[in-house]
Amino acid sequence: MRIADVRITPIAVPDVPLVNTKGVHQRVFLRAVIELVTDTGLIGLGEAYGAKRTLDGLQAVAPKLDGLDPYHFRDLRSRVELALPEGGGVNAPTALADHKVVDVVYSAFEIACLDLIGKHTDRPMYDLLGGAVRQDIPFGGYLFFKFANLPTAISTDIFGKVMTPDAMVEEAREIVGQYGYRSLKLKGGVLEPDLEVETMLKLREAFPDHPLRIDPMGAWTVATAKHVVEKLDGVLEYLEDPVRGMDAMAELSAQIDMPLATNLVVVEFEQVIEAVKKDAVQIVLSDHHYWRGATGAIQLGEMCRAANLGVSMHSNSHLGISLAAMCHVAAATPNLTYDCDTHYPWYDREIIKGGRVTFKDGKLRVPEGPGLGVKLDENAVAELHTLYNEMMIVDRDDTDEMLKYIPDYERKVPRW
Ligand SMILES: [Mg+2]
Repeated sequence: MRIADVRITPIAVPDVPLVNTKGVHQRVFLRAVIELVTDTGLIGLGEAYGAKRTLDGLQAVAPKLDGLDPYHFRDLRSRVELALPEGGGVNAPTALADHKVVDVVYSAFEIACLDLIGKHTDRPMYDLLGGAVRQDIPFGGYLFFKFANLPTAISTDIFGKVMTPDAMVEEAREIVGQYGYRSLKLKGGVLEPDLEVETMLKLREAFPDHPLRIDPMGAWTVATAKHVVEKLDGVLEYLEDPVRGMDAMAELSAQIDMPLATNLVVVEFEQVIEAVKKDAVQIVLSDHHYWRGATGAIQLGEMCRAANLGVSMHSNSHLGISLAAMCHVAAATPNLTYDCDTHYPWYDREIIKGGRVTFKDGKLRVPEGPGLGVKLDENAVAELHTLYNEMMIVDRDDTDEMLKYIPDYERKVPRW
């Protein structure tokens, strides 16, 4: 079984204006659908970021995969590195972390290879990763402050404007009512810190048994973060990226007992070692999109076990192929003991057959079919590819988008 053809289809998915510390989501988010076609007629699926640098990387590597044995991940890795000699990162300059293009492109193709191997052996992907330690994957409700849609929006405006603590509690009630989530995470760094403290306290009152987290994405100074930690003592299960940079995280960590989590300062294996040396974080967020695929994400889990760090799971806006891969990785990572993040409630499209998946009590059953266990809805992909061509948005830039809402907006991280 060898790779005979590679299809990469960029798509645009209608999104809502979710606010974060560097700006606001654009009218669409971008993804790339990957199909690896073998000489035996099997098709392996993958889903990657769809912004320009990732897409360019995927397209540069695609012709080099001809003849690849999908079982040979080392060969895949060296083909990716050879095809992308300049390396570099994929994220917008206004983003707060950068992911290496070789890791992101490798990751996307590795998932598609695993899907192929699963189909070839008639095994679910989690069996290729060591077997499942859990079949039902718990996800948490991912809460966002948000603007109301602009008149130019093309999405359904889920939940309308949410920019106060009370509105956030209502949003949480809606999302828990619809999906049954048993924990909640707030994307913070949007309102003044004391208002976000008030938000968390109101969420605690409304959901006395839900583990709570807040992720201000580096919006606070060490002094501000310390103030927040004092106010939220006993309220949070962990605090995610309160301050910017490894050294600031270490400085804060030395002064508090609350566990710190990150998907900003630890995004490569080398940084795990630095974080341990500096005792900068206690929990690392896994993500198969940049931790060198599913096998890398599993290795991260093992590395965190050895280093006595916790493991949680990060999310970007994604569709059903990525969600299935997240479930398989979570199923096969024994020490992934926190509820996974997902942006799934924030859009209404899907690209897999059967349409939108259903959460039960906040959980998803890991797909049982061979490989990822999902099939592509080609009509849905074609529709979103047409939208990609029409929208003429090829990169993500939350800061630029923010100027449409706040014309004198200035990106400042940390802001408080
Ligand atoms: Mg985060």
